[in-house]
Amino acid sequence: MHLETLIRTIPDYPKPGIMFRDITTLLEHAEGFKTAVDRLVDYGLKREVDVVAGIEARGFILGGAVAYRLGKGFVPIRKKGKLPGETIGQSYDLEYGTDAVELHVDAVKPGQKVLLIDDLIATGGTALAASQLIKRSGGVLEQALFIVELVELQGRMDLEEMGIEVHSLIQFDGE
Ligand code: AMP
Repeated sequence: MHLETLIRTIPDYPKPGIMFRDITTLLEHAEGFKTAVDRLVDYGLKREVDVVAGIEARGFILGGAVAYRLGKGFVPIRKKGKLPGETIGQSYDLEYGTDAVELHVDAVKPGQKVLLIDDLIATGGTALAASQLIKRSGGVLEQALFIVELVELQGRMDLEEMGIEVHSLIQFDGE
């Protein structure tokens, strides 16, 4: 199953010069979606984790499925202002703009081992902000998994320097 053929590239979205790697075409493909989740689960099984965290919004779709398969709970990391309870927040730079993510203060318990899931790693800023929220909660981010990695942006470097294992299913290098 060649997952990369199921990713649609949309040039100049959401800004000129950005090659948007659209995973919705993979998600709507039954075998593609199953294969992607199965491969993420295979990586997830290599490390002992207590809980799965997913980043809004595409990380919820994948993270929820992976958490179910691993028999673990799911913790949402959301865009600013979306979580109803008391939160901690972290701002970060995107490939296009800046943003902030939040986590419920009590969602990750001290000492818990966390598996982080998102659809794509570009500069790594989002995942790094998520990792800081997990760390500030007292959790230990063991592994970060992505469907797509934009290799030339070297987003995995900061995570790996922090001792976090990083895996992606599909790599794009340039166009
Ligand atoms: P970054 O923080 O730079 O690693 O950006 C990762 C986040 O932004 C992910 O949640 C992606 O969904 C989104 N993103 C950034 N660049 C792209 C791109 N070229 N195509 C699709 N999604 C992207």
